[in-house]
Amino acid sequence: MNHRPAPLTPDVLVIGAGPAGLTAAAELARRGSGHVLVVDREQRAGGIPRHSDHTGHGVRDLRRVLSGPAYARHLVGLATAAGAEIRTRTMVTGWADDDTVDVTGPDGRYRIRPRATVLATGARERPRAARRVPGDRPDGVYTTGQLQNLVHLHHRPVGTRAVIVGGELVSWSAALTLREAGCTPALMVSQYPRAESYAAFTAAGRTLLRLPVATRSRVTRVIGTDRCRAVEIEHLDTGRRRTVACDTVVFTGDWIPDHELARGAGIDLDPGTLGPLTDTALRTSRPGVFAAGNLIHPVDTADVAALDGRHVARQVIDHLSGRPRPAEGVRLLAEAPFRWVAPQILRPTDPAPARGRLLLWTDSFVRLPKVTVRQDGRTVARRTLAWPAAPGRVFRVPAGLLDGVSTTGGPVRIGLDGARSGA
Ligand SMILES: Cc1cc2nc3c(=O)[nH]c(=O)nc-3n(C[C@H](O)[C@H](O)[C@H](O)COP(=O)(O)OP(=O)(O)OC[C@H]3O[C@@H](n4cnc5c(N)ncnc54)[C@H](O)[C@@H]3O)c2cc1C
Repeated sequence: MNHRPAPLTPDVLVIGAGPAGLTAAAELARRGSGHVLVVDREQRAGGIPRHSDHTGHGVRDLRRVLSGPAYARHLVGLATAAGAEIRTRTMVTGWADDDTVDVTGPDGRYRIRPRATVLATGARERPRAARRVPGDRPDGVYTTGQLQNLVHLHHRPVGTRAVIVGGELVSWSAALTLREAGCTPALMVSQYPRAESYAAFTAAGRTLLRLPVATRSRVTRVIGTDRCRAVEIEHLDTGRRRTVACDTVVFTGDWIPDHELARGAGIDLDPGTLGPLTDTALRTSRPGVFAAGNLIHPVDTADVAALDGRHVARQVIDHLSGRPRPAEGVRLLAEAPFRWVAPQILRPTDPAPARGRLLLWTDSFVRLPKVTVRQDGRTVARRTLAWPAAPGRVFRVPAGLLDGVSTTGGPVRIGLDGARSGA
């Protein structure tokens, strides 16, 4: 007979021990929410920052600047000191029913049936295969996550000369890791008219790393039988192709949420982010299941994910105390050039989104974006923001622009008005 142990019944199950999950757990435990259990499939808790071994973490949540690994350790310390239990090497593999998940860990397979669940499973970069880049299938082709795992967690060598595909913040992080591993970043390739990262990063990166950026370009072929030898690059406007010698290629950015569990549960997904559809209280479509971090906005910085965790904890506490879910809300929709907005539902009596910001992703540069909010044919708000909208990083919009929205009206469209697209 197949004997299955009785399910664990914590008050809250947090799936994913990255900045979002750990901060949610710390806040929940600190506020006396009973047994808070965090599970993570990795050997150690901390999420992506464990292997992002450079500074720049913790500014908004901790008001200090730490390296990724130090930041990860700090968040683990806060969660455990507050009383949360963390189980690593423990993967949630699916759902047994609406309230119960299947888990595999060092003690075998078992089930967890919490009173509330927080999905904080993060996002990953699309690997080469998912980007449909043709050519050979040699060694030496990575995503940034794979590269940093190899270098910082497994201390393994990479090649000697690399091409980086993408010009986002994470692409510069890849450049730093390559340099640390003794591999020269030789070229960065971006499809946009300029690297997507902040101008300051691009200028510093170009100067300090002496890394040229091939803009309006894409990789059309990977060349090499056993080991990568070169990549072929095409200029998007002229169609001119050239071959660049390299033994390492790093595909950066192009994020997809780790949404398999949400999808497996039949939770509604947003067609823009491909993460769970959430309201400003970070509820998903399944009662008692919440979501936070890069799973719902692929991707923002670690401190923003952590502050999502703090925000969701308060909503989970309301849920545990029996506060009913508010009435249906209105849908927030992104209009071009925006690809997505998060969160996507505004309900009456709900709190403002985390940090009082809506997060959006743009497909083109706009230097002086005039954001417009429209509902049922009328303009609810229009405001020119002082910061540009740029591909490859989240564009943050004050949630106060939604103040005039009717929560009983039609969908709310967030777009740009009359703004000039910068090349
Ligand atoms: C290369 C790189 C460099 C970066 N540099 C910076 C920087 O300098 N500063 C900064 O602020 N941000 C930086 N970021 C962004 C930052 O790392 C992320 O924003 C942050 O880690 C997101 O936190 P999260 O908790 O949402 O997800 P993650 O950190 O991705 O954590 C998700 C966790 O969920 C776990 N998980 C997933 N599925 C399951 C499952 N089924 N069962 C159990 N566990 C599961 C994963 O193992 C993982 O540990 C960088 C990101 C990258 C990739």
